[in-house]
Amino acid sequence: MVSIMYKKENVYIYSNPLPVSLDLKKVLTEKLQKAGFNVIPELQKDTSLIFCIGGDGTLLHLVHELNFPTAPIAGINTGHLGFFQDTSPDRIDEMIDNYKQGNFYIQNLRTLKATIQHEGKISKWYGMNEMIVKGNVGCTVHLSISIGQNFIEHFSGDGILLSTPAGSTAYNYSLGGGLVDPSLEILQVTPIAPMNTNAYRSFTSSLFLPADKYLFIKPERKDAHVRMQADGFTREYNHVDTIMIGYSSTTLHMLKSRDFDFWKKVKEKFLGNDNANFSETEER
Ligand code: NAP
Ligand code: MN
Repeated sequence: MVSIMYKKENVYIYSNPLPVSLDLKKVLTEKLQKAGFNVIPELQKDTSLIFCIGGDGTLLHLVHELNFPTAPIAGINTGHLGFFQDTSPDRIDEMIDNYKQGNFYIQNLRTLKATIQHEGKISKWYGMNEMIVKGNVGCTVHLSISIGQNFIEHFSGDGILLSTPAGSTAYNYSLGGGLVDPSLEILQVTPIAPMNTNAYRSFTSSLFLPADKYLFIKPERKDAHVRMQADGFTREYNHVDTIMIGYSSTTLHMLKSRDFDFWKKVKEKFLGNDNANFSETEER
């Protein structure tokens, strides 16, 4: 008798520590095992899917803790907003079925890389939503900003935020930045409380850059203390010479239901469900 051995797919479950998420993790583990998956306790190279239980904040923690993993990530929202999360706890059976049948699509999200030259060293840091450059807490920061080789402005204000399309709906949006469809590869530079007076002149709107451009930021004051934020995490650097920020070569892969649509999600999460529908087939 010939027997064919099928290797079980390795799946990993990441969860925030809230009881509601941990309970769901138990239920999901049992369902996945019943469906023929191998639920592994730690991420491995051959992991074919990562489940993320929590909100957007949990996804950002996952991405940083697991060092921007290459396996697709399937989000289940137990958090507040859950903009990134594809499904809800009551729909996990459907999610497992769809995954088994290949009935899903993958949304590719490019990430940011900051290269920081400081104290004769080079540090690197990565972001999914955004990278922010600020000064000391409560102080204005003065930055010289270049796009590629071209000097653009002396910025004065609270800071400069560089957002991916995926991050355009987060902090960027609160600052009056634009919402960007994540199928576009665009970098958005959004000022944080820019000063625009006779003493200091800064752009007051967002600038949109193509994917191959880099932003160069140089602190203009002597001690050059800089506070950087990426996806809600903070790091401080002293005696900063230059910070270069642009797209990194790392792409994250989000598992999405077939009916996922970015703009539908924006409407649902930001405006509620009560807006009138219009048809795409309508005459233009
Ligand atoms: P948090 O302060 O708990 O979360 C801020 C809110 O942003 C949460 O409701 C979070 O969703 C939501 N969020 C995160 N990424 C999003 C995205 N791409 N699109 C739409 N909403 C998003 O901190 P956190 O949960 O660790 O998230 C860190 C993020 O917070 C940062 O990347 C930054 O963009 C954002 N932030 C916003 C402001 C602001 O708007 N004034 C200030 C600081 C930071 P969940 O509820 O599902 O977690
Ligand atoms: Mn959060």
